[in-house]
Amino acid sequence: MKTLPLGVEPVVAPRHTFDESRSLIGLTHQEVGEKLKEIGVPEKQCRMRAQQIWHWIYFRGAKSFDEMSNISKDMREKLKQHFDVGRPEIIENLISKDGTRKWLMKFPDGQEVETVFIPEEDRGTLCVSSQVGCTLTCKFCHTGTQRLVRNLTPTEIVMQLLVARDYLNEWPSPSEGRLVSTIVLMGMGEPLYNFENVKKAMHIVMDDNGINLSRRRITLSTSGVVPEIYRCGEEMGVNLAISLHAVDDKTRSEIMPINNKYPIDQLLTACKNYAGIKNSRKITFEYILLKDVNDSDEDALKLVKLIRDYQIPAKVNLIPFNPWPGSSYERPSKTRVAKFSDIIFSKGISAPIRTTRGEDILAACGQLKSESEKARKYSNKIN
Ligand code: SAH
Ligand code: SF4
Repeated sequence: MKTLPLGVEPVVAPRHTFDESRSLIGLTHQEVGEKLKEIGVPEKQCRMRAQQIWHWIYFRGAKSFDEMSNISKDMREKLKQHFDVGRPEIIENLISKDGTRKWLMKFPDGQEVETVFIPEEDRGTLCVSSQVGCTLTCKFCHTGTQRLVRNLTPTEIVMQLLVARDYLNEWPSPSEGRLVSTIVLMGMGEPLYNFENVKKAMHIVMDDNGINLSRRRITLSTSGVVPEIYRCGEEMGVNLAISLHAVDDKTRSEIMPINNKYPIDQLLTACKNYAGIKNSRKITFEYILLKDVNDSDEDALKLVKLIRDYQIPAKVNLIPFNPWPGSSYERPSKTRVAKFSDIIFSKGISAPIRTTRGEDILAACGQLKSESEKARKYSNKIN
């Protein structure tokens, strides 16, 4: 008997004809007001109307103007003629046996993007994508094998959170006990190479009239685009995670070509400065463990030394390599990973091992996008 692949749920969302050029999602308050003015809403009403609409979109999660019951019917009709607050097509809605969820959404130009939700005991983390593909070519990363297709717009970045909340039934926006309590910009793409759009999207998500997510609950992960790290601190003020992955320039340049442009010294200097402006908030160093490449005791000790030399308040997140077809690295043994972590802990720096989540639905770090294309082809075949 033919069975559905594990975790495939029927798609429950209606297929809206989402049109980015008409969408009010991903615009600032002021921009929404200007749009209203353009369609003839009297100028002195625009601000108030913009606020009402904002509240419906980001606090109540409205997907259509019909839901906006405190706006007159005539006005709703007018809004419908010109604008859209709907969602894109959701082409996959997967649930892992460990509770991790993944949504694949398709935008009108045919580009697809993945968003992953990781529930934990005390919080729920949404892993958001910032680009389709990536211009960087880190050797261990599957996304890095795909050329950059394009940057995501602020609409598309914010939309990932709205869609997750639709599926998790998390409207109206609760003030506490939230399912989606944290956002990490760790999906596909390099967020600092799409700085303006990511910044705009994060300001919308942080706005206290809507979703109201604190900047302390947002973490941006970067492979180390040094000049933008300075801007990130000043203009967004979110938590910073650095994909360090190696402790000497030779190894880092080998696995992450961006290191040729911004070597370790420049990167750690930027981190030190970042921590300084943000009142010693800790920086997370992500460290992928690749067998026989960067996983020795010496590497662990050097990592501790670097953090100390640059006096960075830091924690380390160890990520055992997630393999993908054609990748040229291996995951180190469990004992090797544990020893690496112990060494760092023994020097007083927290270095937990990130447990792999959602592997059965290909939602783990570095597995996004192309693998799910394959999985879908496969599931089409067997259905
Ligand atoms: N471009 C950004 C954010 C996206 S990648 C960055 O590089 O930081 C999110 C994290 O997953 C990064 O730390 C990245 O190095 C890591 N990663 C990529 N491929 C991986 C793989 N195959 N196994 C484990 N982690 C991986
Ligand atoms: Fe791009 Fe990050 Fe993957 Fe490197 S690790 S290729 S920067 S997504």
